[in-house]
Amino acid sequence: MINYRNDARRQLRRGEAEMESGDAERLKYAALELRMAMESLTYDRALAYKEEFPPAEYETWQPRKVMAVLLDIDPTADKDSSLAFGIEPSYGEKPDVMHSLGTEKVLSMSTLKKHYDALGSYLHVLAMSRRRAGIAINYDKMRTRCEDIAGYLREVLASPVWNSTFGTFATIDCQKCGKPVRKRLPQGVDCTKATCFECGASYVVRDVGENQAHFEPDQVELHCANNGCETAIYPWRSEIAPGVGWTCDVCGGENIVQLGISHTPKGPAAAVASPAEAHE
Ligand SMILES: [Zn+2]
Ligand SMILES: [Zn+2]
Repeated sequence: MINYRNDARRQLRRGEAEMESGDAERLKYAALELRMAMESLTYDRALAYKEEFPPAEYETWQPRKVMAVLLDIDPTADKDSSLAFGIEPSYGEKPDVMHSLGTEKVLSMSTLKKHYDALGSYLHVLAMSRRRAGIAINYDKMRTRCEDIAGYLREVLASPVWNSTFGTFATIDCQKCGKPVRKRLPQGVDCTKATCFECGASYVVRDVGENQAHFEPDQVELHCANNGCETAIYPWRSEIAPGVGWTCDVCGGENIVQLGISHTPKGPAAAVASPAEAHE
């Protein structure tokens, strides 16, 4: 198996070496190495879920998409977690002494978003309009950004607890497209949302105890807009958008979903404006 964590270490080291050269022109090479280190850590994180999220499914994906899926599966993936163990005096009783296994610093989506895109902009020449306006690359800003990221990556890579994944993991085949939909219910959370990455159908996922989760399709009740009919249909919430419609099975009429503003005139007291007011 590929060791992405070691790849990230090498990429970070090469990035640091470029920064240490002191040459502003070499900062772009540092940015490239740091960006790759973030990508390696994303794949490393994905492998931690190999039972629930098989690598064959994301082998060809860009790191950005892998991270987005990881965050949807596991909303705690972007937070630090700490592990501790202790011996229970008797079954179910809280241990007197807890031994910490350390804190895991994981690559967070907000950090990824913040840094990954910013670094990307350093890998291109300035846009023509900026060049024409006399705007130059701010190397001090670029260096600070690279140093921030390198510091963060050092912390992630020095973390003693690697990619721990706990909680109830739930998977179903999407009722709309058949592709797997996954969600991890973190401890202490009993309801969350899951979205199918293939077709966008959403589900409400509930912890029903004993490591079991229940997926409820996130469907909406809509009624035929023909006053005499009002027959209900139950589309997925993700399917409702302006312009989407259906032919009513009962009355045969067409219904189209539209964005609209409905207006009700002011009450009778203010209905007649005086000529002066009318000119305002
Ligand atoms: Zn689906
Ligand atoms: Zn109808």
